[in-house]
Amino acid sequence: MTRIVKFFETTLRDGEQTPGINYFAEEKLEIARALADMGFDTLDCGFAISGEPEFEAIRLIARNVSTAEICSICRCFPGDIDRAWEAVQDAAQGSIHPFISTSPLHREAKLGKTRAEVLELARTGVARGRQHTPNVDFALEDTTRTEHDFIFEVIDAVMKEGARFVALCDTVGFALPWEFGELVDEVRREFPTIRISAHCHDDLGLAVANALTALMHGAERVDTCVNGLGERAGNAATEEVVMAIRTRRKDLDLDVRVDTTKIIPTSRLIARLSGMRPQWTKAVVGANAFAHGGGIHQDGVLKDTRTYEIMRPEDIGLPPSERRMFVGKLSGRAALNAQLKELGYDLTPDQLARAFQLVKVILGKKRVLEEMDLRRCAEAAMSPTADVEALALETVGEDGRE
Ligand code: MN
Repeated sequence: MTRIVKFFETTLRDGEQTPGINYFAEEKLEIARALADMGFDTLDCGFAISGEPEFEAIRLIARNVSTAEICSICRCFPGDIDRAWEAVQDAAQGSIHPFISTSPLHREAKLGKTRAEVLELARTGVARGRQHTPNVDFALEDTTRTEHDFIFEVIDAVMKEGARFVALCDTVGFALPWEFGELVDEVRREFPTIRISAHCHDDLGLAVANALTALMHGAERVDTCVNGLGERAGNAATEEVVMAIRTRRKDLDLDVRVDTTKIIPTSRLIARLSGMRPQWTKAVVGANAFAHGGGIHQDGVLKDTRTYEIMRPEDIGLPPSERRMFVGKLSGRAALNAQLKELGYDLTPDQLARAFQLVKVILGKKRVLEEMDLRRCAEAAMSPTADVEALALETVGEDGRE
């Protein structure tokens, strides 16, 4: 039976750790509402102990968003754990997420703690959390650089204390997909009843591949951020994981219970509030994700969009009118014709040929055509006396390139 993937949506926590982002409480609430409306299971809303504004923002979300589980993360110290629970305790469904670094590098260089000390903190952290709620998940920070016998020791301890999900974390984006898959296999062999969440970073551009691999190997849940935000190169992008699963669900035998038509509105909301627009070629939500530049591609898409598009714009909430035919140096007559039709020009084949010639001349001198340029081309092409070369010069000015 097709398995429904769960999401630990961390746009409001790891995503806000993106250097340069700082949401105010009302903005965090707006984002939380958008994510809850999309159908994500758990919203990781922040680090309650990190300060008063963050605590207040998490509590505001907990009190106002009831359709998703509201989570705060915490270190394994009693004060952290109690504060995290205090922030989410008013939620219809609240959870807390203690974590500790387990890798030798982090133990020695960052924490200055032995294996035994880290193990004890993990155990007591979960035990303390469980005094507040059964919804205690535990993360082994930097799992993928941790000795496997120690991973097992820690998991054994936290499961005995009643941890619900265990997050295997590729905190520094170091894992290769097959390694991460093997890790999930090994852990599941050792702990058949474990529920795994996969936390993957994108330092090598492998976050989504690692997350999907973990799911294929039996992880139940993935940690993701909209627009791929997060520490450094970011986390596995929510929209990419969602659409990879939805688009290939038959082959993966997985699916999502997410309203994909809210992907673009939510991505744009976060781009606006974070001040960070996704790169143009970003999968799913980039401005060019449904734009076509080459003449052969444009001709194909104009005949049947499926020739070069594996998703439908409407499925992610992108108005079909925003599917762009880019008229550039490499584009063809079909795209130009389509573009001119949208501007209200219906050219004969001869006129189109003249307009096309004019476009190419202009694009030898100017990088990008604007709407006015296209209009001039169409009008010149329709006037039998127009001098194409002279018009091109007039359009771009005497000094040529911008
Ligand atoms: Mn992270």
